[in-house]
Amino acid sequence: MTEAILCKICGKRRAKRACPAVQGDICTICCGTEREVSLSCPLECEYLQEAHRRERPIPISDKQLANQDVAVDEEFLRSREELVLFCIYSLVQAAIRTPGAIDADALTALEASIQTHRTLDSGLLYETRAENTVAAAIQRAFTASLAEYQKLRVEREALSPVRNSDVLKVLVFLHRLGQQNSNGRPRGRMYLDLLRHMTPEQRVEERAPSIII
Ligand SMILES: [Zn+2]
Ligand SMILES: [Zn+2]
Repeated sequence: MTEAILCKICGKRRAKRACPAVQGDICTICCGTEREVSLSCPLECEYLQEAHRRERPIPISDKQLANQDVAVDEEFLRSREELVLFCIYSLVQAAIRTPGAIDADALTALEASIQTHRTLDSGLLYETRAENTVAAAIQRAFTASLAEYQKLRVEREALSPVRNSDVLKVLVFLHRLGQQNSNGRPRGRMYLDLLRHMTPEQRVEERAPSIII
């Protein structure tokens, strides 16, 4: 007779699922309470995927949405679809390649980029940088992608760069989407997971998360 394997986290209940975050078997209760709380769950975890599909984001009213002065409607998003998808893709890449990055960091990175583009709108070139190092790393990679996008437009397609005010609108849209799709868990990545599913199949090598229990 084989003995029941106990959960690697609580050591009391019977382990029912393989958890890539602890690299061991855990019980369903610990998975539910510790997921994205004390555990940095890889996005590939099937239980995390299932949870993100079921979970309701923390409700947020329209009034709580940031950048109220910037109007973004569907028509605009349709007309700038390519840029929107490019920004989503770049943000996900930047976040997934930054070890320890969570939704809150992606939002902080966006906030700094929004501020930079607002300043640019008033004719000044001054980059606002995110203070937290993880967010700053996301912002750096994201900004570089966007600059590359503009450069290719000009050099390869002989187009003018996308207007600053349009880039600002896309950033504001992405930020709102994040505000509306956060699950409130300390290490939550529901928003990044959503963005990942909005872009075509990607092969992003995710860095192994650190194990902190
Ligand atoms: Zn347990
Ligand atoms: Zn998991």
